[in-house]
Amino acid sequence: MKGNQTISLEFFPPREAAAREKLAEAARELVARRPAYVSVTYGAGGSTRAGTADTVQLMQSLGMDTAPHLSCIGSSRAELIEILDGYREQGIRRLVALRGDLPSGMGRHPGEVHYANELVDLIREHSGDAFHIEVAAYPEVHPQAPSAAKDLDHFVAKVEAGANGAITQYFFNVDAYFDFVERARARGVGIPITPGIMPITNYTQLARFSKMCGAEIPRWLAARLADFGDDRASLRAFGADFVASLAQRLLDQGAPGLHFYTLNNAEATLAVWNRLSLD
Ligand code: FAD
Repeated sequence: MKGNQTISLEFFPPREAAAREKLAEAARELVARRPAYVSVTYGAGGSTRAGTADTVQLMQSLGMDTAPHLSCIGSSRAELIEILDGYREQGIRRLVALRGDLPSGMGRHPGEVHYANELVDLIREHSGDAFHIEVAAYPEVHPQAPSAAKDLDHFVAKVEAGANGAITQYFFNVDAYFDFVERARARGVGIPITPGIMPITNYTQLARFSKMCGAEIPRWLAARLADFGDDRASLRAFGADFVASLAQRLLDQGAPGLHFYTLNNAEATLAVWNRLSLD
């Protein structure tokens, strides 16, 4: 890994007590590897507000620079401002600003802040430069975008609103990432665009997630993963080799670092991390 390349880790707030214990163990194990920062997801419309706050506190208690995610859809400006002020008081200096997706059937009003660029505007307007802001990027195009060109316009709008960095949706195709970065650079975007890395441990779950978020599993990869059937250990070993090779190519070709979607599982992230050759 070259001098300033960084590794960051994403966690989600657990729902049950047993999962909380598992998260605390995974976090302790991963934090010992000294990631640059950790982030904690947030359910749209505030559905995980308390859980996110608890998990942020856990990460801070482990001494980590912690970036809560904040999604705007389904929330009022007043709610968002209250959260921003709370984080500032708590010593948070970094946020991941998102639109989010309203869960179907949630029945909440879409709120007052409709897109992530408007949330970045709100944060800058209300909190100035108190936070370093990361936004999301989609090398394979956001599933609701009318076109790749429009999606890039919307990404550029988030950067112009004041984002300091971007984290991508996960992908399994290196070309998609470098093509996106090149198109963003051609539009004058200078901020780091860090690839999001999804470890592969469970094919059924991965296929479901990927369909929802518009990440493509190449046909050959889907076929190889399907072949493992119930042989989870072999699938994990193959998945770790594959994802580590993808991550290594990204770093070697100049990505600014890696952001792991840990899914609160230390083993899966470490299996990839331990396979990387880092300078
Ligand atoms: P936006 O950038 O607002 O884009 C959403 C869609 O609207 C895109 O199709 C875009 O092209 C379009 N668009 C944007 N601006 C405009 C505009 N002004 N006019 C018309 N169309 C527009 N979800 C959560 O609920 N909680 C999380 O913690 C979370 N963390 C994430 C972390 C990362 C790194 C990533 C990549 C995604 C995460 N998500 C999370 C998922 C994310 O909320 C969804 O992908 C969501 O659908 C889009 O969020 P966004 O911030 O990218 O939205």
